[in-house]
Amino acid sequence: MYDRYNRKINYLRVSVTDKCNLRCYYCMPEEGVKLLHYKDILSYEEIAGVVRYGVEQGIDKVRLTGGEPLVKREITRLVAMLASIPGVKDLSMTTNALLLPDYAEDLVKAGLQRVNVSLDTLDPEKYSQITRGGNLNRALEGIEAARKAGLNPIKLNAVMHQYFDEEDRGALQNFAASYGYPLRFIREMDLEKGTFSKVEGGSGGDCRRCNRLRLTPNGKLKPCLFSDLAYDVRELGIEEAYRLALETKPRSGSSNTSCTFYRMGG
Ligand code: SF4
Repeated sequence: MYDRYNRKINYLRVSVTDKCNLRCYYCMPEEGVKLLHYKDILSYEEIAGVVRYGVEQGIDKVRLTGGEPLVKREITRLVAMLASIPGVKDLSMTTNALLLPDYAEDLVKAGLQRVNVSLDTLDPEKYSQITRGGNLNRALEGIEAARKAGLNPIKLNAVMHQYFDEEDRGALQNFAASYGYPLRFIREMDLEKGTFSKVEGGSGGDCRRCNRLRLTPNGKLKPCLFSDLAYDVRELGIEEAYRLALETKPRSGSSNTSCTFYRMGG
């Protein structure tokens, strides 16, 4: 499918939860977050319905995001449901890797192909500070488990936040190079201010070539991360939500005052 700017839209990012087992300071407020009510959250069957219809329209790339998707119960069941939809050519996940030692093999068996791992530093103290208590070693064990299980490629996403420095960049580049992991640098974004830039080493943030739609855990189909536009698949129906999302997808992002990163999966 194509939007009104003739951009080919073939990529759906599905945020399955607003919960996370980390509290990165640039994503989640210190005081915690008001989580969505479980009745408002789409079931796996509903998510599969949105993906299946999207595939009929031209989606062939699906990414599972969050919050942290691996904190979601039975996540491998959803992976298997989506992997079984003919036409899903690329099924991936963005994760902080902390739970990958427990899940990597089952995710591969279920049909997951690759992962993007959020990793901003290789300094254990700094990692704990940024994530408000995360354990770097556990994340590195998760990346190793993903490699051994055959998830490929394993891409690393590093957010260049205010404490990010050249030492972090150098250490991440060496680590990534030693395993052949593609490494991307993401400038810290601000939804309300509308500040964002193209991902260094990736395709995100390039509005001229934007190919994506997003689905929030509570069933809002969003044509753009930096926009308040959102179409409820339960209220409007899947078909109408897609039609409106495609029809109103903006030429480029502006600002988003109505949603959060941990509900849209960045
Ligand atoms: S800001 Fe919107 S249009 Fe631009 S790349 Fe992001 S999602 Fe696409």
